[in-house]
Amino acid sequence: MQDCIFCKIVRGEIPTSLVYCDDEIVAFRDTTPQAPTHVLVVPRRHISSLNDLTAEEMPLLGKLLQVCREVAKKEGVFESGYRIAVNTGPDAGQVVEHIHFHVLGGGPMNLEIG
Ligand code: AMP
Ligand code: ZN
Repeated sequence: MQDCIFCKIVRGEIPTSLVYCDDEIVAFRDTTPQAPTHVLVVPRRHISSLNDLTAEEMPLLGKLLQVCREVAKKEGVFESGYRIAVNTGPDAGQVVEHIHFHVLGGGPMNLEIG
């Protein structure tokens, strides 16, 4: 997608603080962190949201979660705890329409959703 900000990050067209990448998935730091550790994990392929993932693309979810776990290890929050959030649609506050997993940790988090 030409104008998608996360596609631009994936293509290396805008700078980012890279945490992980492989041939399918890229992870980078959120520019407005909501926790001491706040990393976004995204597929290289443009998929707008969880709602747009096809049945054939479902295995990608497992890979994204696996990378989230690796990121948690790399960031030192694997044992202390972390939260994974996938905002989907306007009521959930999804702003960037390229599916992404937030990995949040590094301190206690309350149970408030959103
Ligand atoms: P969401 O509200 O789930 O769509 O989350 C989008 C997230 O992307 C927000 O937490 C933003 O702070 C983050 N964000 C927006 N632009 C960038 C960027 N260029 N690099 C890293 N994170 C970004
Ligand atoms: Zn995109």
